[in-house]
Formats: sequence, C-alpha cells, structure tokens
Amino acid sequence: MKTIWSPWRLEHVLGKKPHTATCLFEPPGEGCCAKEDLLLYRNCGCICMLNRFPYTNGHLLVAPARHVSCITDLDSKEMTPLMELVSAGTAILRRVLDPDGFNIGLNIGSEAGAGIADHLHFHIVPRWRNDVNFMTVLADVRAIPEHIEMTYDRLLPEFQVYYQSRNIHHHDSSA
Ligand SMILES: [Zn+2]
Repeated sequence: MKTIWSPWRLEHVLGKKPHTATCLFEPPGEGCCAKEDLLLYRNCGCICMLNRFPYTNGHLLVAPARHVSCITDLDSKEMTPLMELVSAGTAILRRVLDPDGFNIGLNIGSEAGAGIADHLHFHIVPRWRNDVNFMTVLADVRAIPEHIEMTYDRLLPEFQVYYQSRNIHHHDSSA
C-alpha cells in the first residue's frame, strides 16, 4: 500500500500538533469519545480512533489502553476486548461506508513500518475498487480536515451504540 500524502504536510494544514507530552494512543481524560482527538471509543481497556493521516477515508486505529509495544505483551484479558473492537470497527465501517474490502493489520517495530512503534495499534483500512481515484481527490490537502471530521460524525453514533451494548453486556455478566 502506498502512502498517498505526507503526514507532516497535513499537520501543518491542521495548525495544531498532536499531543506531545502524552502518547497519541492515550488521549487525555476518561470520556468514551473526544472529537478533538478523533477518539471514537474508549472502554474495556482499549480505544479506537480515526487516523489523522489516513490511507483511505475511515482509516481506524485500534489500540490497547496500556502502553505496550508488541502483541506478545498483552494478556488474555486485554486481547479479547481488543480483538472484539477490531471486529466491531470493521462491522461499523462496513455499515457506514460500504467498502469493497479491508486491510487489517499490525506493524510491529519501526523497521516494519510502525509510525508509533512504542504503542501497539491495529490499522483497519477500508478499501474500494476505485479508491485510487478516491485518494486522488483526497490528496487535495485543503479538503482533508473537514472530511475527517465529517467521517467522525458519521461513525460516532455507531460506536456509541457499541459502547452501550458492551456496558449492558458487562452489567448482565456481573449480575
Ligand atoms: Zn501509549
């Protein structure tokens, strides 16, 4: 997969830097979502956010809340909700954006292409038959920030439904 545009250029367009004091995958606060961080979901020890530097529209990042660098650092209690969130994120993208396929994966270690190698994160990249053309359109950097916020607004209600379903499930299982 090719990188279609350059993150450092987009950061300049957005006019603000990501959090420097903390890790990208540990947005401040405790809330289950935060638009300024593109955080769509935080619950059960894991998070999901939109990638501010996406390969395609709807490019999600799913990470454990804990700052670990490798999948082998996770215990089974972290693994299950994380994989369920990868699955839920994929289902939500399918419902909302109707892609033709997905690339889902991990880059572990900067040599393997991880942009932030310190904190494990899954990429969920929806793909369309015509997404080369689509990305050409998005390569106009002026259009990207608004586009990401629009995508966030479309995805958030679905993640909130998932959040509620998880919490109802947890309540039931603990009763
Ligand atoms: Zn971290």
